Amino acid sequence: MIYRQTLTVPVERVDFPSTQYRHETYEKKQIVLHYTASGAEVYGDLHHWRKTASRIATAFIVDRNGVIHEVFEPTKWAYHLGVGLRDNKVLLKYKQNGSLYDQHSIGIEIDNYGYLKYDKKKKIFTTAYGNQIDRDLAQHYLVKHRGHEWYEVFPVIQVEGVKQLLIGLSNQFSIPLNYYGDEFDVCTRALEFEKGVFTHNSYVSANLRTDIPPDPRIVEMWMNLPKSA
Ligand SMILES: [Zn+2]
Repeated sequence: MIYRQTLTVPVERVDFPSTQYRHETYEKKQIVLHYTASGAEVYGDLHHWRKTASRIATAFIVDRNGVIHEVFEPTKWAYHLGVGLRDNKVLLKYKQNGSLYDQHSIGIEIDNYGYLKYDKKKKIFTTAYGNQIDRDLAQHYLVKHRGHEWYEVFPVIQVEGVKQLLIGLSNQFSIPLNYYGDEFDVCTRALEFEKGVFTHNSYVSANLRTDIPPDPRIVEMWMNLPKSA
């Protein structure tokens, strides 16, 4: 069954050049959640990916309205993990697997600014790029996630889009949706190619990436996804 068949949220096909991703097909074992760390539009991400020579992209972007943008078919692949990067502090044997992780996974970018900075004197929140954002969008973490205690929340409607996409992809590729709680930091299960849903944190060390934080809405949604044995 193709993932789109079970969705009730809109899916938009993106006009993305076929030269910007890879067409060989591999068994898909994993789904990886990212955030874009960018502004309110998916078009900024796409514009950036179109310009790169290195075929960096994810198959999907879920925007803040919960609309799913299919950048390329999830049977294909592009680079989205960077496990082999020199500064990635995971075991060498995993770094040597390099693009195998990109080939065997499906990336989902969730539009989100990522971590926020709080100016206690001015009482304002700003993104990593210096844009000021509304207090209501700031989520506090009692336990810092990879060095940061404030992140932008994911709107309810956007979490619903991610949920439906996960269920659809799970049906199409027989990938289990179970939540274990170890997915928000370097995760041996991910690096050993265990089937399942992970985050970018699962593959790279804290000096490289913070996506995505254990947002309460995301975690609750994930914990309540249909379980498989
Ligand atoms: Zn990422």
